[in-house]
Amino acid sequence: MAKAGVLHGKNQIHVEDRPVPRVEKNDVLIKVGACSICGTDLRAYNTGDLFPPGTVAGHEFAGDVVDAGKAVEGIKKGDRVCVKPMPEMIGILIDGGFAEYALIKNATLDENILILPDTISDEEGALIEPLAVGIHGVNRLNPKPEDNVVIFGAGPIGLCTVIGLKAAGVNNILVTDFSQMRLDLAMELGAGEVLNIGKKNLGEFMGSRPQPEAIVECAGVLQAMTDAINMVATLGKVLVLATYEEKFEIDLLSIQLKEIDLIGSLAYTTYEFKQAIDIISSGKIDTKKLITHRFSLDDISRAFEVQKNADEAVKVMIKP
Ligand SMILES: [Zn+2]
Repeated sequence: MAKAGVLHGKNQIHVEDRPVPRVEKNDVLIKVGACSICGTDLRAYNTGDLFPPGTVAGHEFAGDVVDAGKAVEGIKKGDRVCVKPMPEMIGILIDGGFAEYALIKNATLDENILILPDTISDEEGALIEPLAVGIHGVNRLNPKPEDNVVIFGAGPIGLCTVIGLKAAGVNNILVTDFSQMRLDLAMELGAGEVLNIGKKNLGEFMGSRPQPEAIVECAGVLQAMTDAINMVATLGKVLVLATYEEKFEIDLLSIQLKEIDLIGSLAYTTYEFKQAIDIISSGKIDTKKLITHRFSLDDISRAFEVQKNADEAVKVMIKP
C-alpha cells in the first residue's frame, strides 16, 4: 500500500492508503519526489465539481522511475523524470502526482515523460510544466528583444512568463498585480518594473509613457482584457494566457483600427519542456524562487489552504 491525497469534493482532500499501481507493458511507475499545486488543482479543491470524487490530482511532478513495462522504450528503472501531462490528463489525471506513486499509462519518451539531467532537482522538475506554459506563451507572442512588454497578473503563470521573456532576451518587462509579495518576486525573477494596482491606477501610471508593443494577460479578469486592448501600441500584440470562465465582449473596430494581433495560448510542446529544462540547467534564473511553501503529503489539506491565499503563496510544493 502507498499514500495518496484523494479529492472528495469541495475543500475535502484526504490522505488514504491505496494499492501501489500495477505496471502493464506500456506503463511507467514513478516514485514522486515533488508535485506542485496548479491553479486547476486549486479550482478542483475550491469547487468540488471539476474532478470526480476519488481523484488523485497533481500534474506538475517529477521523481524516480521505479518500474517500466516491457514495451516501454528509452525509459528505465532509476531514471529521474518529469511528466508532460497530455491535455486530457490535466482534466482528470487518475493516479496523479499527489501520491507516493504515480502511474503513467502509455509512457513515451519525450511525449509524456522527459528525462531530467542531474543538475535539476525534483522540485525544479515539478516547475517545468508551469514554466513550459509561460515559455509557450512567449513563443506564441514572439516578441522582439527591444519590445516593451506588460504582464497583467503576477500569479504563477505571469511569473513563469517573466522567466520566459528574460530567457528570450526581453528586458523591458512591467508586471502589474495587487499582491506586493508577488510583485517583489517578479522583480527578483527579472522584471524591470512593477506596479501595485491596488495602490496606483494603471492609466495614471502609464501616463505619458510609450504604449507597450505587447501585453500578456495573465490576470483572468475581463477588465484586464479591455485595458490591454486600449493600452497596447498600434500594431501591438495582446496575448491571452489566463483562462476565462465568462464571455468577453469585444469591439472589433478597436482591434482593426490599431491593427492589433490578438493571440491565444494554452498548453505547450515537448520542445518547450526542453527549453524549460535548459533555462533551469543554465542557472541564470533561480526558478526555485517560485516555491513559497513545502508540505509533506500528510499535510496536503493545509497545503491547499495555504495555496488559496494569493498574498502568501505562489507555488506550494507537496513532497511525498
Ligand atoms: Zn499546471
